[in-house]
Amino acid sequence: MSDENKKLEEELESFRNSIGTADRSGNRKWVFAKKPSGKYYNYRTIVSWVLLSMLLILPFIKINGNPLFKFDVIQREFYIFSYPFFTSDFKIFAIGMITSIVFIILFTVVYGRIFCGWICPQTIFLEMVFRKIEFLIDGDRNKQIKLAKQKWDEEKIRKRLLKWTIYAVISFIIANILFAWVIGIDALRSLIVEGPIAHMSTFVGLIIFTGLFYFVFTWFREQACVLVCPYGRLQGVLIDKKTIIVAYDYKRGEREKGRARFKRGQNRAEEGVGDCIDCNNCVIVCPTGIDIRNGTQLECVNCTACIDACDEVMTKIKLPTGLIRYASEEEIVENKKFKFSPRMIAYTAILVILLGVLTSLLFMRSEVNSKFLREPGTDYQVVNESIITNEFQFNLQNKTKSTEQMHFNLKSHPSGTIEVIGLPIPLLIQPGQQIEGKAVISIPLKDISSYKEGIEIEVLNENDKVIDTYKTSFAAPFK
Ligand code: SF4
Ligand code: SF4
Repeated sequence: MSDENKKLEEELESFRNSIGTADRSGNRKWVFAKKPSGKYYNYRTIVSWVLLSMLLILPFIKINGNPLFKFDVIQREFYIFSYPFFTSDFKIFAIGMITSIVFIILFTVVYGRIFCGWICPQTIFLEMVFRKIEFLIDGDRNKQIKLAKQKWDEEKIRKRLLKWTIYAVISFIIANILFAWVIGIDALRSLIVEGPIAHMSTFVGLIIFTGLFYFVFTWFREQACVLVCPYGRLQGVLIDKKTIIVAYDYKRGEREKGRARFKRGQNRAEEGVGDCIDCNNCVIVCPTGIDIRNGTQLECVNCTACIDACDEVMTKIKLPTGLIRYASEEEIVENKKFKFSPRMIAYTAILVILLGVLTSLLFMRSEVNSKFLREPGTDYQVVNESIITNEFQFNLQNKTKSTEQMHFNLKSHPSGTIEVIGLPIPLLIQPGQQIEGKAVISIPLKDISSYKEGIEIEVLNENDKVIDTYKTSFAAPFK
């Protein structure tokens, strides 16, 4: 390759040497994105409002007094569809996590970063809340650039103060929403009613998260997707030629002679000129500051803003839309239709198996967690030379949504008894509550066949329905 060609190739590939939001020395390049408009932006706005409403409303919903969702990591209290989950349900959580990860991988392999553009809270808050406020206060791209260059006069101070105050208020609201999902709406209400002094740690947490959200949405912005988000970083390994992405149809856009300015009445295809008129609209609208015509890039969050921008241009110059569109690389190069690859089929099979395991674990999950252990350091007792007794420690956890009245039955030895010490029977256990107690199990000597007799204890509710069973051993004299 000649030196000239090498230089040209280096120049063409130079965009890969730095990210769109920083210059070569690593300094921040502020992205002044143009306000998007078009079909996809309208759809995304609808999806965003639905998701934001869910985010806001769901923590307030309770069923039978239980929150619909709660993920209190600190107190280890979890509710999913109002079903309480406990650390003892770790197995289900672990499989749930694996299922989610495999789902994300599969989804990404097939549909690329659709999640980033349409569902990710970072994108939704940044593009649909914070940036819309910015457009409202500072105006569109050109006005924002002018304002940024402007000296700190009355207009700039007023606009900046207004914007930053609104951003701070919204960041505080987002922190409250996050806390409503984590600590629950009741704990949040207590903080509001009783004041920060009574709930200092929660209040400090709220302020820290408000600060974090303010920093992310006011300054850090798209860099969270490019530099921090692990999902974004995974794209490079997950996306292949068959993945659906936001792609520039370079075959049509460039043709043999490359892109060229628009000329009225010109037949571009006949002249071998690409359909891209180099108007730059797809670049200035990009919130991550990239040029999609350079191909798939780490920064692209598949927000579809460039699709809308280019479609608008194509419509104006009376050329078919879709120069930038959802398509796979293969589809663009070979004009092929989308097909499931063996890798996708394998991921789908794994996902189906994992979902099956998860569903059966959820259905098989007992309503009560019971455990009976012989009192450490004790041996059997002989009563009236005919009855053998053992002392047990028991632990019961109510995993249902309602208060349960429980009692025990010695299923393996109907002639035996279980007597609970120091607690009223039936045992009244609140939803999620865990109680510990002692019980004495007595079995007639004549019904014991081994010095380590196997026994089975049933836990029953007030309707005498068996809600759990526990097998353990009972110490007895040698026979
Ligand atoms: S908006 Fe379309 S026509 Fe304009 S530069 Fe981008 S790809 Fe080319
Ligand atoms: S390249 Fe297009 S889809 Fe990707 S982030 Fe920029 S505007 Fe959004």
